[in-house]
Amino acid sequence: MKVKITLILISFLITILNAKNNDLIQNEYVKLTPQEAEFIKKTKINVITSKTWAPINMFDDDEKISGIAIDFWNLIKTRANLSTNTKISKDWNEVLDEIQTKQSDITLGTTFDMKKTNYALFSTPYISFPIAFATLFDKRFIPDGSFLEGMKVAVGENYSSFLVMKKLYPKINFVEVKNTEEALKLLSAREVDAVVDILPVIAHLISINGYANLKIAGTSRDNIEISFMIRKDYPELLKVINRHIALLTPEEKDHIIRKWLTVKFDKKFIDKSMMINISIVVLTLLLLYFYRQKNINKYNEQLEFLSNTDSLTGLKNRRKIYKILNAEIKNKKFSLILLDIDHFKTINDDFGHLVGDEILIKISSILKYNVNQNDIIGRWGGEEFLIICKNTQIHSAERLAIRLKNLIENEDFKVRKITASFGISEAKQNLHLKDILANADKALYKAKENGRNQIVLFN
Ligand code: GH3
Ligand code: MG
Ligand code: MG
Repeated sequence: MKVKITLILISFLITILNAKNNDLIQNEYVKLTPQEAEFIKKTKINVITSKTWAPINMFDDDEKISGIAIDFWNLIKTRANLSTNTKISKDWNEVLDEIQTKQSDITLGTTFDMKKTNYALFSTPYISFPIAFATLFDKRFIPDGSFLEGMKVAVGENYSSFLVMKKLYPKINFVEVKNTEEALKLLSAREVDAVVDILPVIAHLISINGYANLKIAGTSRDNIEISFMIRKDYPELLKVINRHIALLTPEEKDHIIRKWLTVKFDKKFIDKSMMINISIVVLTLLLLYFYRQKNINKYNEQLEFLSNTDSLTGLKNRRKIYKILNAEIKNKKFSLILLDIDHFKTINDDFGHLVGDEILIKISSILKYNVNQNDIIGRWGGEEFLIICKNTQIHSAERLAIRLKNLIENEDFKVRKITASFGISEAKQNLHLKDILANADKALYKAKENGRNQIVLFN
């Protein structure tokens, strides 16, 4: 009984927390270009997915593929009217192989990896999760990954969490195993000190296996972003999918997450008091997670919409961005991406001011529909844009910048190829707002100096 009440409480709190951010949906954005419409009409999309990353992708009790990634895909594929075939792979390597050789066109739950960009395109992330740290039940709270340094931490071989954690905390003693299930077995047998993977995966595996001696001891500050990965020569598919991702509402996202974090909990559960413990830990983490993603000032923003909006691009104007920065600076957890279009003056000179304006509008829309859910974009100056990435460390912001740089570079602007340069800085405890802005500016200056169409991180 108590268990049910806890679960209902979790759902209820998440619902309250998510009355948020109902940005105006721009339906015209789903209108396809003739090429995209043609592509969608004549192409059967071959999907490949593994079934070994529960609850992202997994088999349900009837051996049907299901999971968080699958739910998002089904929503998008229905809305985009895609006709598809689905293949279940033996393992993750087979997925990569098939995308590379173009036997399959898309896979559903993956994370951006620079190394794969020579054969694949990555969609805008449709959901993101912190990395959870699982330990034995009697261990202390782990505020961030640095507390795992020197410890033996088991992790799935080549898993995103491994790649991210290894880069941030090279002093951790990683033990690579086949998958997170194996990692948790080792932890439960006290052969390692901790296990890392994204929050829903750890929560799911601890609960369905009834590991009474394990708990989630903390989560990373930075989130892992889940995207679709598409074969390189299908940019039309990428664009259509990105538009639909941009139109997903927070309610739709939370509906899917909630389903997977609650329903799966009361199955096969052995010890009820243990389950309550896990529920409480997961509840706390979820509250934290949703709180981090929240924009508190939404009502004021709506009222002030006009005075805060740039009339050409519809983006937030400099005044508004300044206000947001002044609010954000209090918790010092964000990164800034400053982006400046390369040689923009020559576009006005060669093609006229109106063409210049159209290009600014087009670039604004690329930015608007491809940044992550909690990012804020503003027009900082003439052909300069500033993106505030909340709760984001500099390397996550860099991943976003790489995506945006590629999108701009590959967009057909009709008149000529257009590129942009990027400078990125991160808020740090001892920095004032003007320093953080100046740092992004210095990095941008360096990107220009080094030849443009590139990204420079300030550090
Ligand atoms: P760089 O690669 O060094 O950034 O070269 P750039 O030509 O982009 O840089 P510069 O700052 O010299 O020129 C920016 C130009 O942007 C000058 C201005 O005419 C143009 N611009 C600024 N605002 C607008 C606008 O609203 N519409 C149009 N069409 N052009 C604008
Ligand atoms: Mg400029
Ligand atoms: Mg410029």
